[in-house]
Amino acid sequence: MSKVILVTGSSRGIGAKTAIRLAADGYDICVNYSHDAIAAENVVREVQSRGRSALAVQADVSKERDVQSLFTKIDESFDGLYGLVNNAGILFRQMRVEEMTAERINAVLTTNVTGYFLCAREAIKRMSKNRGGMGGVIVNVSSAAARTGSAGEYVDYAASKGAIDTMTIGLANEVAVEGIRVNGVRPGFIYTDMHRDGGEPGRVDRLKDCLPMKRGGTTEEVAAAIAWLVSEESSYTTGSFIEVAGGR
Ligand code: NAP
Repeated sequence: MSKVILVTGSSRGIGAKTAIRLAADGYDICVNYSHDAIAAENVVREVQSRGRSALAVQADVSKERDVQSLFTKIDESFDGLYGLVNNAGILFRQMRVEEMTAERINAVLTTNVTGYFLCAREAIKRMSKNRGGMGGVIVNVSSAAARTGSAGEYVDYAASKGAIDTMTIGLANEVAVEGIRVNGVRPGFIYTDMHRDGGEPGRVDRLKDCLPMKRGGTTEEVAAAIAWLVSEESSYTTGSFIEVAGGR
């Protein structure tokens, strides 16, 4: 039986590369996106060219109704759900905390924290052995920012990732006996569009020399860590984190 993985925010960046990598590893993929339908369809084609099934579903993970309809579409289109990669995340223009509005802070927290919780909730309902499921895996894409705090850039974003690290530990303990493993990856400076959203497209190149490895990371390198945590190779690993951050 094919194993289906939902990768949230997989039209671009780390999520897109993860969807393609997981397809190469033999999984069918639900490609979730927020706005960019053309990019999502490109990822669907990449998955299909590797011989796997794929479906693109628009859903804003910060909205409960969207998340419910996303999982209903998965129920209708695939035979069960094996895994969730919680990846859809946002940040806004770099600024100090004293400049931040409640609207901005709430937008970051609802997408990066509430969105991960809502998707985990729906995935657990389908995967838990206590509910007739087969077990499964959840990988939460956190950030090295959870450790560093992102002073002067986006402390709101860093705090959202700290929340995800705590959620990963608690949820891993909560569902371990139900056959679900929950782990996290903490990427560092990775070449994606996200830095443009922070107002500094060249941020990785500005900061890379402060890293022990003196270079930014690639989306493929993050996808490889996620793929290991999804795979049976990590079958005794839960509540753990992989740093993909060039040694920082
Ligand atoms: P990205 O290139 O900006 O891509 C973001 C993806 O998330 C896009 O597919 C976007 O969809 C989707 N998305 C955004 N908001 C969404 C929402 N509300 N609902 C559903 N999908 C949504 O970002 P990235 O750099 O690949 O980041 C992916 C994850 O890695 C994030 O959790 C981020 O915090 C984390 N991370 C990134 C870095 C880095 O250096 N890049 C470092 C550490 C951690 P559309 O295409 O439709 O807009």
